[in-house]
Amino acid sequence: MKANEIANYFVEKTADMMELSGNVKKLLLTPKRQLKVQIVLEREDGNLAIFTGYRVQHSDARGPFKGGLRYHFAVDMEEVEGLASLMTWKTALVDIPFGGAKGGINCDPKSLSQRELEILTRKFVEQIHEFIGPMKDIPAPDVNTNASVMAWIMDEYSKIYGFNPAVVTGKPVDLFGSQGREEATGRGVYFVTAFLLHSMGRSIKDCSYAIQGFGNVGSWAATFIHQHGGKIVAVSDVSGGLYNKNGIDIDSLKDYVRKKGEVKGFPEADYITNEELLTADCDVLIPAALNGVIDTHIAKEIKAKIIVEGANAPILPEADQYLEKNGVIVVPDIIANSGGVIVSYFEWTQNIQQFRWQYEKVIDELYQKMKSAYDSVYNLAKSKKVSLRTASYIIALGKVAKAIIQRGVY
Ligand code: NAD
Repeated sequence: MKANEIANYFVEKTADMMELSGNVKKLLLTPKRQLKVQIVLEREDGNLAIFTGYRVQHSDARGPFKGGLRYHFAVDMEEVEGLASLMTWKTALVDIPFGGAKGGINCDPKSLSQRELEILTRKFVEQIHEFIGPMKDIPAPDVNTNASVMAWIMDEYSKIYGFNPAVVTGKPVDLFGSQGREEATGRGVYFVTAFLLHSMGRSIKDCSYAIQGFGNVGSWAATFIHQHGGKIVAVSDVSGGLYNKNGIDIDSLKDYVRKKGEVKGFPEADYITNEELLTADCDVLIPAALNGVIDTHIAKEIKAKIIVEGANAPILPEADQYLEKNGVIVVPDIIANSGGVIVSYFEWTQNIQQFRWQYEKVIDELYQKMKSAYDSVYNLAKSKKVSLRTASYIIALGKVAKAIIQRGVY
């Protein structure tokens, strides 16, 4: 099942439950603009390679389009469309003045040199610059993109339009980025995990965790959970997984990954597969790699009673139904990984105001935003006796539908 079908499934289900009109439902499901561009790159060996780039702008009813940029071989229009839709619900749920978008280039970034990646990125900007901008659409990092990629985008865009740091977020801190942005998504995953455990009368340090993905989101979520006394028994990345029932020392693992580039071979744990990681014996499972990794077959084997979606759309709808029926609590992506876009909003605000926030202010404001969104989701779920995902969608769809109606449909 593709990411757009997953996203649309949850939207349709909630819209029907909310008895939204057919017309509003159609508007919520239909992306406003879909771009597909061809990027020609002269490789260092002299051969020409042609890549396909995408940008889907799902909704700007509540503010400029906002969403990450992914470099991966699985990127296609359907995936980008689904991820763009998720951004619309995420920005609405956490109440920041943006809509939803997503983009990407279908490529294997590991097979490209840094120089080739830079040229690819700049050529992508050449193709889409008319459609992005500080008040139009603001890209950010996602899978296999980082602060350097954002700096190239800012530089290329500024060549055409002049000084414009707010065109993109997730930039290096020394180049108009925000303090705390790099680790914001992982920190947010830690915050919501702590909020949920607190609601259940438990705490971070009472629990054991398995985390899939040791990139930006996974490694920072692991860092904060580890720092607060949580026992991380399993971790994985694309190279495979690690398991140690006594807990993995995340600082040593980070050092190891910095040197070796992957978790495989880390000496203080046993090797496991990614499927074994998802079904490992633990209290909390945090999928923080790719979408669609938990199907019904895997869901039936999952031992964790809590799943916090660090990644976007890691659970397929049927598996989600199975988990809900079987009492597994899922904290959905649109709140669990919203920390990144919240601090992106702070970065955009700082760029527009030409004013820098202190690190402590960023963390405090992030905490307040996430706590307030979590409380409204948790209270609604409790009062309506629905899952946290359904409650999140009810709030998000309600806000976007209201904005569409207030703007006027003609
Ligand atoms: P990243 O590129 O920094 O890291 C991805 C990690 O997943 C790497 O450790 C990689 O090895 C691992 N991985 C890739 N394929 C895998 C596979 N088949 N099995 C197991 N592990 C695999 O990406 P990221 O920014 O950490 O993003 C991870 C997820 O979080 C994505 O779903 C992304 O959309 C979502 N997300 C990211 C942000 C952000 O701020 N970066 C914000 C919100 C959501």
